[in-house]
Amino acid sequence: MLSVVPRPVVVRAPSKVNLHLAVGDLRVDGYHELNTVFQALSLSDTVSVAPSDALAVKVRGEDARVVPTDNRNLVWKAAEMLAIEADRRPDVEISIDKGVPVAGGMAGGSADAAATLVALNALWHLDLSREDLDSFAAKLGSDVPFALHGGTAFGTGRGERLLPVLSRSTFHWVLALAKGGLSTPTVFRELDRLRADGTPPRLGGADELMHALTTGDAATLAPLLGNDLQAAALSLEPRLRRTLRAGVAAGALAGIVSGSGPTCAFLCADEDAAVRVSAELAGAGVCRTVRVASGPVPGARIINDAAEG
Ligand code: ATP
Repeated sequence: MLSVVPRPVVVRAPSKVNLHLAVGDLRVDGYHELNTVFQALSLSDTVSVAPSDALAVKVRGEDARVVPTDNRNLVWKAAEMLAIEADRRPDVEISIDKGVPVAGGMAGGSADAAATLVALNALWHLDLSREDLDSFAAKLGSDVPFALHGGTAFGTGRGERLLPVLSRSTFHWVLALAKGGLSTPTVFRELDRLRADGTPPRLGGADELMHALTTGDAATLAPLLGNDLQAAALSLEPRLRRTLRAGVAAGALAGIVSGSGPTCAFLCADEDAAVRVSAELAGAGVCRTVRVASGPVPGARIINDAAEG
């Protein structure tokens, strides 16, 4: 009898940048109310999931040694959650190739978790609907639903309630990756501290920014980018001010801290400008490394064609 060798399901897991991140007050459940506009970027992780004897996580890539490979990894939690749903053992090996900086404010862990949901839905033939996947994603973390959807979206609540946003063209970004990461809860706590001590300015609504997205014009969008967490990230990592200045001096239209940082994201006029800005920024000695990316891109998607062969 011909034996069928299961092949891994391979999923691309995109990173995100928050074009607009307005942080409201602390809620009784310990979270902050957010109004945010996410954009999924081409800088991504690749997650391969294959049948195995027991649940195992392997991580490759530059930041691999700081990523947990046990039940602290979000992909482990995602596999256990879907195994309970499917009433089976979570016997898979999940291999993550990290392209997204770890603890960099680009939601790489959330993207890996979304990718695992998509991969297991296919591998185990679960036939879960988009709504089912959304509800598992929201249980795993605030940024996981967006990593499933991708594109450009407006998020409320903890960022998990999403509405798609029309974005007319491809935008070109340069990302300055920092040495080390910033813990998201620490950055939120620092914002609470800054707000208790004084009144750092708060972002208004996102209507103008969403209108700029429909025009597809990067120069119109650039001055509207904003992030309430930036003041907190800069307070914890003052060196990021230099990075932000250097990106704009190199020709970017605008620079912001991505999410909770410390990655800085620079919007550029077009692809050629992004390549020029990245080369100049790489030579300026203000960050660990530089990447060029574009967005919006789709959410977590299978990039090989079959679960079995
Ligand atoms: P977030 O804002 O969602 O916390 P982030 O981009 O700042 O995102 P992540 O790279 O997602 O940070 O990871 C934050 C922490 O989560 C890491 O320091 C790591 O210990 C842990 N973690 C769990 N699973 C993963 C994963 N698959 N990839 C990277 N980190 C993970």
